[in-house]
Amino acid sequence: MSPKLEDYDVMGIIGSGSFGTCYKVRNRNTNEYFVWKAIDYGNLTESRKQLLVSEVNLLSELNHPNIVKYYNRILHKETTTLYIIMEWCQGGDLLSVIKHAKKLGTWLEEGFIWRALYQTGRALQACHTRLGRVTVLHRDIKPANIFLDHRGNIKLGDFGLARVLQGDNEYSQTIIGTPYYMSPEVVKGTKYNRKSDIWALGCLIYELCALVQPFSGSDIQELYNRIPDRYSENLVKMIQLMLTVQHEFRPTIEMVLHHPVVVTNVSKYE
Ligand code: ADP
Ligand code: MG
Repeated sequence: MSPKLEDYDVMGIIGSGSFGTCYKVRNRNTNEYFVWKAIDYGNLTESRKQLLVSEVNLLSELNHPNIVKYYNRILHKETTTLYIIMEWCQGGDLLSVIKHAKKLGTWLEEGFIWRALYQTGRALQACHTRLGRVTVLHRDIKPANIFLDHRGNIKLGDFGLARVLQGDNEYSQTIIGTPYYMSPEVVKGTKYNRKSDIWALGCLIYELCALVQPFSGSDIQELYNRIPDRYSENLVKMIQLMLTVQHEFRPTIEMVLHHPVVVTNVSKYE
């Protein structure tokens, strides 16, 4: 049976984005909490509508413990609103975590950062290596798009700009918007590829350590000087590896996840 709006109670607004507004809702039958994203498609151009359809179809195909779970959608034609029902990530997003740490003048625990690296990496692995299926590139990895559940587990979300790539074609067709963490090859006009997601992961882990975005400083030495001494050499080494300028030499997600340093530290902090 397809779900209806009447099955849910709206508990409150979480926030608004470029595409719609997110609400916390509760299912009346099960009392479970969800988030629904209400998107008014009435004023969308045909190409934006297509983007929306592909976002929703993509979400429904991705099933992974570190990817925000998509449950359902409700199309409300009377108000030209599409409701996307997804997992409620109680811990909020990493942007808030960063802002909070900055405000308190504290640093994030190294164990938390290794877990973020590993679990975001696992989510990317699920997108990059889908056996027999089309590859998915996230394309917009950034703190605001990474959530935490009630246990503090990472959930990659907001595939708003993610594109589905057909078959073995490694490169996506168009660039939509400007990625928050733009890799050198994308700056130079090369198409966004899997390695560009790795670059973004490197930037994310950097930002969790330094609490500022990378590449706001001018030179590379200054860049790494902004990572506090409290973090291990191994963590800095992994960041440097993911931030390899030439994408041909940058590791794949498999190489990152199987790196001895990652394996050791993830088990250490688990
Ligand atoms: P944006 O374009 O800013 O990403 P969104 O519509 O994606 O806008 O999100 C709006 C707000 O709702 C943000 O504060 C985001 O952190 C929050 N949010 C989005 N999805 C979830 C979720 N599944 N669980 C908890 N909070 C969410
Ligand atoms: Mg978002």
